[in-house]
Amino acid sequence: MSLENELMVKFDMPSKEEVSDVLLKTLFKHNGIIKEFNSNENIVKEIADEFNLNERQLTAQIEIYYKKEDRIKRSSLWNRLLYRSGSYLAKEKLVSHPTQTQKITNRKEWMLTEKGYDQVLSTLKIPLSKKDSLQVKSYEVQKEQIIISETEIPNNYNPIDSSSKRKTATKKSSIRKRAFRYAVIENYQKKCAICGLSLHSPDNKIWEVQASHIVPHSQNGKDDIWNGLALCHLHHWAFDVGWFTILPDYKIMISPKITSLNPNIGYMSGVSFFEQITKDNSRIILPDNPNNYPHKRAIEWHKANVFCT
Ligand SMILES: [Zn+2]
Repeated sequence: MSLENELMVKFDMPSKEEVSDVLLKTLFKHNGIIKEFNSNENIVKEIADEFNLNERQLTAQIEIYYKKEDRIKRSSLWNRLLYRSGSYLAKEKLVSHPTQTQKITNRKEWMLTEKGYDQVLSTLKIPLSKKDSLQVKSYEVQKEQIIISETEIPNNYNPIDSSSKRKTATKKSSIRKRAFRYAVIENYQKKCAICGLSLHSPDNKIWEVQASHIVPHSQNGKDDIWNGLALCHLHHWAFDVGWFTILPDYKIMISPKITSLNPNIGYMSGVSFFEQITKDNSRIILPDNPNNYPHKRAIEWHKANVFCT
């Protein structure tokens, strides 16, 4: 038995498999991403608490001789165990290793893979269909998000997927759908493009802002950044029902129908609430990168097909 394993037994540490199970669930709890253990004391403590580790177990150290550097390094036994469990999960392709994740995000993080995500959902008895509504970002979704955000606009871009007859939900389309959501929300810096509202849940996990399609999915609108717009719940609804649209110069146009509303509708303390937060003729808040602005063909389609004149 290696010295490390001997110490694990001596300090009555949990097994690698037990720690791996908790690590997967912890990743799920943290929306699929946690920083590597060395720079993340909170996670190290959080997982330790799941096992009720005592002070002696938490402070146990191991001395390891590094041949290459010809020196002895002291490490925490618990950190070693966490790292070994993470590496084991990475080998099983249930998580991505920080060195792998760093290549695409420049951040050293453990991320759940789609396979790991499916496994946690099945352990927690959550139906796989919930994937689209949960806020967990998998490694594959992260990769796809980068593709969505960094692809150059093709010539003659068409926001409508004319190739699709009746689209069936596939693994690939589910990843694309979730990646679209993150790409749009993050490109608009988690703000509504119309009113600028940026708000998250008390636990900081769920953003109020939604990724809306300019040409909706029901009309075969594509999951591309050029067919997306980050909108608060109210503006998402109002955009989908045609209360306002966006002009080719990115200015907001409110439907003239607004004046025909019953005077009891849409008012708060005597002020027209909707008009107050939807400034007619003002420019929407756009992403930093002009390549990712909404495409003119998408917004023209919305004005012609959804907007109420
Ligand atoms: Zn808004």
